[in-house]
Amino acid sequence: MITAVMPTYARYDVALERGEGVYAFGTDGRRYLDFGAGIAVASLGHCHPHLVKALKTQAETLWHVSNLYNIPGQERLAERLVANTFADAVFFNNSGNEAVELGFKMMRKFQSENGHPERYRIISVEGAFHGRSLAGLSAGKQQKQTAGFGPLTDGFDQVAFGNLNEMKSAVTPKTAGIVIEPIQGEGGIRPMDDDYLRGVRAICDDFNLLLQFDEVQTGIGRTGKLFAYQWPDVKPDILSSAKGLGGGFPIGATMATEKVAATMGAGSHGSTFGGNPLAMACANAVLDVVLSDGFLENVNSMSERLREGLNDLVTKYPHHLTGVRGKGLLLGLRFRGDGSEAGAMVAKANALGLLSVPAGDNIMRLIPPLVIADAHVDEALGILNKALAETAGRAD
Ligand SMILES: *Cc1c(COP(=O)(O)O)cnc(C)c1O
Repeated sequence: MITAVMPTYARYDVALERGEGVYAFGTDGRRYLDFGAGIAVASLGHCHPHLVKALKTQAETLWHVSNLYNIPGQERLAERLVANTFADAVFFNNSGNEAVELGFKMMRKFQSENGHPERYRIISVEGAFHGRSLAGLSAGKQQKQTAGFGPLTDGFDQVAFGNLNEMKSAVTPKTAGIVIEPIQGEGGIRPMDDDYLRGVRAICDDFNLLLQFDEVQTGIGRTGKLFAYQWPDVKPDILSSAKGLGGGFPIGATMATEKVAATMGAGSHGSTFGGNPLAMACANAVLDVVLSDGFLENVNSMSERLREGLNDLVTKYPHHLTGVRGKGLLLGLRFRGDGSEAGAMVAKANALGLLSVPAGDNIMRLIPPLVIADAHVDEALGILNKALAETAGRAD
């Protein structure tokens, strides 16, 4: 008989019931060091006191009002995102997928409003993940996710990873824009070269296309800057944010320059829940912490420590590991083999008290809360060493 919860997930044998900082506790009383953070969502760890206070205070004040009215928390959050990025305006939604898909709509709307309704096609990069709606799947084109859901939505083309020539030749008179994750997350922590991103920006400028960065996973401090595009300083026209933005409260945000946002007049888009006061209170509280002095410095120094330790493991277990990639606290440990090894190691590490997340390309993702300290990094490395030693069949 089918389980009451629809069987769409292959779940690990872990049930968490409580969290405190970088640790989560299972219903079996076990303690886990959480280097998965709910897939890069709990960026301030579990039950961060500042977030708890913000949510409690808002819960006792006002939960929900419609976007028929002004919502002061939205104005504050939007102004702060604008002040700290390329963007001039923000639309709030509830998830990464929605934040990405609104970007697709905006590309089409912009071209249409500028006299080019024939420019509706969007180019994505092989290995991409843009969410599970029909348009998200159509942009991602991952066989495993699209199987059985066809036909896909028309208007999406895909080019090889990191190939600028192919990107250029894929542009046609029907192209509206390009969507890219600066570092592919689900695809296996695959970073785009700075020069590649610059090249894509130049293509967009040459052909009057819009550039959308999907920073649902890379944003809100995850890579050591507020957004990953700020490393190479290649500015998009549209950016989608979600995951870490609410620190665990569902929220998405689609950010854009004025020329793009100005084409989205009253009635052009909407969301019942998007920008709800509870979500705004949480995201504003997240920004209080992420934008505070020294926060991103900690992300970068913890990243260095973790990367160094992971590189040591690669040296120590060359038959099992081939390298480390990623930026900030979005790091991937790559396993050697037919593709199942990283997933098996995630399960093994779970059993030893370390949570992490698998990704494509045989990657074990280490995406801890951004508030970790030296001792957490060392503890995680110790557990990984133990798990690898057991797998390698040696005791050390
Ligand atoms: C997680 C993710 C999404 C989808 O976000 P949801 O909140 O699950 O809809 C889209 N793009 C990227 C890059 C992601 O990592």
